[in-house]
Amino acid sequence: SSSISTPLSQIFSEYALIMNAIAGASRVFRILDEKPAVADGENAIPMPTISGDVIFDHVDFAYVPGRTVLKDNTFHANPGQIFGLCGPTGAGKSTIINILTRYYDIMSGSIQVDNVRIDSVKQDSLRAQIAQVLQEPFLFSGTIMDNLRYAREDATDEECVDAAKQAGAYEFIMAQPEGFDTFLMDGGANLSQGQRQMLTIARAMVAHPRLLILDEATSNVDTRTEKLIQNGLLHLQEGKTSFIIAHRLSTIRHADCILVINEGEIVERGTHNELMKKKGFYFNLYMSQFRGKLSAVTGVS
Ligand code: ADP
Repeated sequence: SSSISTPLSQIFSEYALIMNAIAGASRVFRILDEKPAVADGENAIPMPTISGDVIFDHVDFAYVPGRTVLKDNTFHANPGQIFGLCGPTGAGKSTIINILTRYYDIMSGSIQVDNVRIDSVKQDSLRAQIAQVLQEPFLFSGTIMDNLRYAREDATDEECVDAAKQAGAYEFIMAQPEGFDTFLMDGGANLSQGQRQMLTIARAMVAHPRLLILDEATSNVDTRTEKLIQNGLLHLQEGKTSFIIAHRLSTIRHADCILVINEGEIVERGTHNELMKKKGFYFNLYMSQFRGKLSAVTGVS
């Protein structure tokens, strides 16, 4: 049977190799692009265990010298506070996260976590205490349990199951052929996008970090899954200093403080209610999203 299948399968496997190489290369470029190496200082110390107090003190930042992206950003998040970041695309929201996780060094001012300047500590020891739930869920080939425990090797089975429950993932995990022992194909290809997101939420819960960064995914999931995810995210934020990049303003309505970013500056700050009363930048952003939603329903804009 092999006279024709051998060359064909060879072609396919070569094709797969090439495609992998392309995908690999673009991944590498993206990582290099976004995450250049910042060197640890010679006297860098390990970051002590943090409580999640975050200070930006007159921070200026540019990716390219001379082209300032963040201007004079100052704010203070107390342990356990939820901060929402909103503003137009390109305003600088992701950049605030990039410098808080120290993928870039700032030009002037200082960033302190628990009153320690983050440029004085080893980067890894800082990042190890920050959980990020980002747009692209990262899962690897292994069981669901392996993927959950990846956050913290010494987590017990019970802790992982608990986390799955809080993240709203328990039900779908138990519906898999082998429950928590179900093997995930590379990247969780055998799961839906919503399910992958719930697993990354559960994983962040297993890690129980003091500092949490959420970059909400604008994903195509059904309403029920979306509710589960929103609930899971709310649970996840409990007791953690959280920074949430909002694409839909509804996800930061409950924030203790919303920072409204425009062209690299914090142009307004306050709770949702305070900002709505101001009838300024946030109010207009909110109204335009609201109108967008209405017109999607009614067809009138
Ligand atoms: P937001 O998250 O609010 O959409 P970003 O923080 O991603 O905005 O971007 C802020 C500004 O910084 C934009 O002008 C963007 O083009 C620029 N920028 C973002 N990432 C990089 C980078 N790696 N190199 C150079 N410029 C960048």
